[in-house]
Amino acid sequence: MATQSGKTTGTLDAIIIGAGFSGLYQLICLRDRLGLNVQVLETGSAVGGTWYWNRYPGARCDVESYAYCYTFSPELTEEWEWSERYPDDAELRRYLDFVADRFDLKRNIQFNTRVTSAWYDEAANTWTVKTEAGESFTAKYLIAAVGCLSTANVPRIAGLESFAGHWYHTGEWPHDGVDFTGKRVGMIGTGSTGIQAAPVIAETASHLTVFQRTANYSIPARNAALSEEYKRFYKERAPEIRKTTRETPNGYPFKPNPKSALEVTPEEREAAYEEAWARGGMQFRATFRDIVLHKEANETAAAFIRHKIAQVVKDPKKAAILLDIDHAYGAKRPPIDNGYFECFNRDNVSLVDIKAAPIERIISSGIRTADAEYPLDIIVFATGFDAMTGPLLRMDIRGRDGLRLADAWEAGPTTYLGLQVAGFPNLFTMTGPGSPSVLCVMPVAIEQHGEWIASCIDYMRKNDIARIEAKPEAAEKWVEHVNEAANETLLVTAKHSWYLGANIPGKPRVFMPYAGGMPRYRQKCDEVAAAGYEGFVLSR
Ligand code: NAP
Repeated sequence: MATQSGKTTGTLDAIIIGAGFSGLYQLICLRDRLGLNVQVLETGSAVGGTWYWNRYPGARCDVESYAYCYTFSPELTEEWEWSERYPDDAELRRYLDFVADRFDLKRNIQFNTRVTSAWYDEAANTWTVKTEAGESFTAKYLIAAVGCLSTANVPRIAGLESFAGHWYHTGEWPHDGVDFTGKRVGMIGTGSTGIQAAPVIAETASHLTVFQRTANYSIPARNAALSEEYKRFYKERAPEIRKTTRETPNGYPFKPNPKSALEVTPEEREAAYEEAWARGGMQFRATFRDIVLHKEANETAAAFIRHKIAQVVKDPKKAAILLDIDHAYGAKRPPIDNGYFECFNRDNVSLVDIKAAPIERIISSGIRTADAEYPLDIIVFATGFDAMTGPLLRMDIRGRDGLRLADAWEAGPTTYLGLQVAGFPNLFTMTGPGSPSVLCVMPVAIEQHGEWIASCIDYMRKNDIARIEAKPEAAEKWVEHVNEAANETLLVTAKHSWYLGANIPGKPRVFMPYAGGMPRYRQKCDEVAAAGYEGFVLSR
């Protein structure tokens, strides 16, 4: 039974941790389709997940709005109106809030509630979840919908505590914003986030100093307001768009060109890249089918982008630092931008190569590198996340026989289908390590997970099954397959990527997301279910 405070009392069927895209959809699947008694626990004070926390300047989705949304309800698609080609963080929060109200979800969500532990009780076959405020919730099923990029990584740089100015991590941005007017700002990190933030910060800061460790590729996003004509066009084509997002490997609304970059003439190739550059966005990666598969094909795209960067950036010293790229295009998550390289042509933006002269420490007046001191009023850490495993491991999760998830994953995450961990019965992870997750448009992956988990629980209830648990050998085989799939791509060649956990000191280097593509993954999950949940132990 639900109360107005959003707290469900009485015996719970399921607890969902997180009220972002995945938690909200899982609630709809379990509560409205199966009729379960569900409680969602959310740290933030509102729905939004990733988009609740990431409010940094320039925050914007890198997937087109009409594809980065739920598709389960034609009525919702009709009622919601996107305003821009790519939604910004505020529009995504409005969208998720609209969804939460539209489907009456908030009555089962308790906000301002950080889950600190989740322990399985074998005798009772229940999960007990405890919160920071000391509350306790017990349910039969536990679904971790905690997101992949929700544990901020603030690097341990000596002296941070001595800094006299203010510092912020982009993933934990203050809700009332940060005023950069007249300030000397230092930004560390040039991944998707830093690349989005720099041009916006530069507009108001007196000076922006970008500290770059690894140079990055980026494609112009070419964001724009959606005309009325386009809004209608996308709504009318929604079923077709949905179908495409389910057929393409990464869940995008476009299909990769079936041609190899190496089978066309240099002139045709150049023309194709020019067209993709002018169109903007992630579709650049789909200009040819083998851009992220083969080194030689990849180099044609990489060389084209480097040439564009060199054309844009006027200062040869800055250009040389920006062009010192050490990985294949797309081997790390490829950013898209709104004026990133252009911002280095501003007089108030400088670039520091911290690969050549690393940061030594933060001092009260700013940042000291191996060869200079940079006086700063504000430091922005655009330094990414402890991705995928971080949000799960920061909770004390214990399965059968008190097995800690942190111990089970000491050598790296092992899951079956990214959905379950051996030794943790009735615990499901949404977009967990070993699932396509961050390599797929998130809402596409999330709808698949939500529906699969709900069907699984429905099957259990109808067949009097009390417990489902991944078999260790099925999980091991799946991890092998995840590695094989990654090895078929160039993704494994970027040795310092967060896909491998390489951005966090001491984190095991394991390629975490499933690179075999969403359709292959979906088929495998469906086959497993059709075979009576092959690879899982089901017990009464
Ligand atoms: P990221 O890709 O991990 O980039 C972090 C940046 O910080 C890198 O340049 C990294 O350098 C640097 N860095 C980390 N630790 C450092 C240290 N100790 N000293 C100096 N530099 C350090 O993180 P992100 O940019 O936040 O993006 C993470 C993911 O979030 C993206 O890949 C994407 O999936 C998602 N995202 C999406 C959007 C969107 O939809 N538009 C926007 C933002 C983020 P190294 O490369 O040398 O490690």
